[in-house]
Amino acid sequence: MSFKSLGLSDALLQAISKKGYETPSAIQKKAIPLILERKDVLASAQTGSGKTAGFALPMLQILNSEPAFRKRPVRALILTPTRELAAQVEDEFREYSEFTDLRSTVIFGGVGANPQIKALRNGVDILVATPGRLLDLENQNALSLSKVEILVLDEADRMLDMGFLRDIKKILALLPNKRQNLLFSATFSKEIKKLANEFLHHPVLVEA
Ligand code: AMP
Repeated sequence: MSFKSLGLSDALLQAISKKGYETPSAIQKKAIPLILERKDVLASAQTGSGKTAGFALPMLQILNSEPAFRKRPVRALILTPTRELAAQVEDEFREYSEFTDLRSTVIFGGVGANPQIKALRNGVDILVATPGRLLDLENQNALSLSKVEILVLDEADRMLDMGFLRDIKKILALLPNKRQNLLFSATFSKEIKKLANEFLHHPVLVEA
């Protein structure tokens, strides 16, 4: 099976080939077609499985196939537990979107907020964020989440372990009801299942 047969467009295939990826990984084979069909997905995926490309590639294709808004409100939000992961995930989005007009940025705590606020002001389609800084900047009206179409919780188990459940719930309340939801987690505790039940809509379970 090839990336092309998964239904990815030329702009993305070009970026994939620049990265040197030859064949999709197991999680990519399963998740990419489902996400392109606009399903909610509950995926069990370890680091190293290629999970990031598994959600980033189909998300970019969806966003790229829709007409852009003039002011570039955030249309895709990816929440991660740590700043390191947030930075890595945004790097991948940036590489895979090279041959599209889509823009991404990353925000996380522990560093000054001003450069992040400036980047947001320029308009971004894709925002990768840790929960605390996202809520801070939302409170300051530095960003709006009212146009988010796709939400990803990446490494959801680690987010819960780190005590982000309350922040996640606050963020969910700021998003439009009609949206696509993707939850990636290495493990499936009772708490993860409960969270999944609360915000995923008829999710398809993906294991790789
Ligand atoms: P992840 O599990 O998303 O952290 O990805 C692990 C690593 O695998 C990253 O460095 C990716 O660049 C790389 N990767 C992702 N998908 C593929 C693929 N289909 N073929 C080769 N490498 C890949």
